[in-house]
Amino acid sequence: MAINDLVKQIPVREKLLSAPLTPLSDVRLLGSKCSSCGEVSLGEVSSCQNCAGESLTTIPLSARGTLWTFTVIRNKPPGDFKGQVPMGEGLVELPDGIRVKSPLGGDVERYQIGMELKFVAYPLYVNDNGQEVIAFRFDPV
Ligand SMILES: [Zn+2]
Repeated sequence: MAINDLVKQIPVREKLLSAPLTPLSDVRLLGSKCSSCGEVSLGEVSSCQNCAGESLTTIPLSARGTLWTFTVIRNKPPGDFKGQVPMGEGLVELPDGIRVKSPLGGDVERYQIGMELKFVAYPLYVNDNGQEVIAFRFDPV
């Protein structure tokens, strides 16, 4: 048995969420802050997308942000799309100096530019190995 078989929760994408994945209320998005120029990138990255510097510090990103802009997806995308429609997709401005593309929770008819949002980590589905795949979204506060 591979060690991965013992893991009950896995992130939807590697190097994106803080560990451990339980309790879910403690999970945060990870960012990488460049020590040369101060740019913050999403996830754990090995070089800065602004200055190509390679001295980066992994930081937990803020759990609160504001809605910078959004769109509403009303038609189910093809393929193995795991969500439900209609769903919101937004750019969430965080106080850390980064805008993050994220699914949005809540009532799509009530979205407003500038509204306050909170980060939510949640189990999206259970994979074939019986592991919960943990995804994230931002919900209206
Ligand atoms: Zn940089």
